[in-house]
Amino acid sequence: MSQLGILEAGSRHDLHVGISPDAPDEGEIGKEGSGVFGYAHSYETSSRYDGPGLRVVLFVSGCLLRCTYCHNPDTWHLKDGTYVSAEHVIDRLASFAPALRSLDGGLTISGGEPMVQLDFTRRIFGGAKQLGLHTAIETSGFLGDRADDDYLSKIDLILLDIKSSNPETYRAVTGRDLAPTLRFAERLAEMGKPVWVRFTLVPGRTDDPANVDGIARFVAPMKNVEWVEIQPFHQLGAFKWKAMNLDYKEADTVSCPPELAQRVRDQFLAAGCRAR
Ligand code: SF4
Repeated sequence: MSQLGILEAGSRHDLHVGISPDAPDEGEIGKEGSGVFGYAHSYETSSRYDGPGLRVVLFVSGCLLRCTYCHNPDTWHLKDGTYVSAEHVIDRLASFAPALRSLDGGLTISGGEPMVQLDFTRRIFGGAKQLGLHTAIETSGFLGDRADDDYLSKIDLILLDIKSSNPETYRAVTGRDLAPTLRFAERLAEMGKPVWVRFTLVPGRTDDPANVDGIARFVAPMKNVEWVEIQPFHQLGAFKWKAMNLDYKEADTVSCPPELAQRVRDQFLAAGCRAR
């Protein structure tokens, strides 16, 4: 059993490793317990980027993808997170709730992949709703089949990362299949659940015009998709790969030039998406 810890405010760019060495493997999906306790990386208190208004962003541990450009490989494993109770997280959130409500913001849970710890994040979303907060999740959608209707009912906005429209590119970039993400996107569209699609633009990796067009054509008819957000690749996470002794395939990849971001934005706009 991991030692119960205290979750510290911090930045997504802080390195956290080896905090809970006896945590289960993140691949043991469904064995994470009742969600009374879970593993978290950190939280930020003043994001204006991860959903509407001012946000508290909680970064939870555990991810089954291995994106070559991941900025936070220290969120992949539960063992690198701090073992905390959902109640502790909700107590912390409560102290920010009046400010978040008055600034039309709320809670965003990111990661890692929040659906690895489905019942832990379910409890936290439930606590946030009881505080009267808007809630958002950032997810790859790979585990979207795990998200039951009760889970989704506690979430107001899905920030859905669609990393590629081409299954081969998706596998090369993430190590996983694309189909679950597309299936989840279609389910959200049928439900009318608000979605912001996020696309990480990695020069030489995801920037192929046909790849971008594929996402744009898939998303454009979906009335629930409020925005497509282009996230230009940067090297801010490179130091984590080095510190964790991981093989970083994007070491020589250039940061995304503004002209490329504009070309891709124009592709989404031309397909009829609201893009920024
Ligand atoms: S899904 Fe997110 S956290 Fe997981 S490997 Fe990819 S970029 Fe990193």
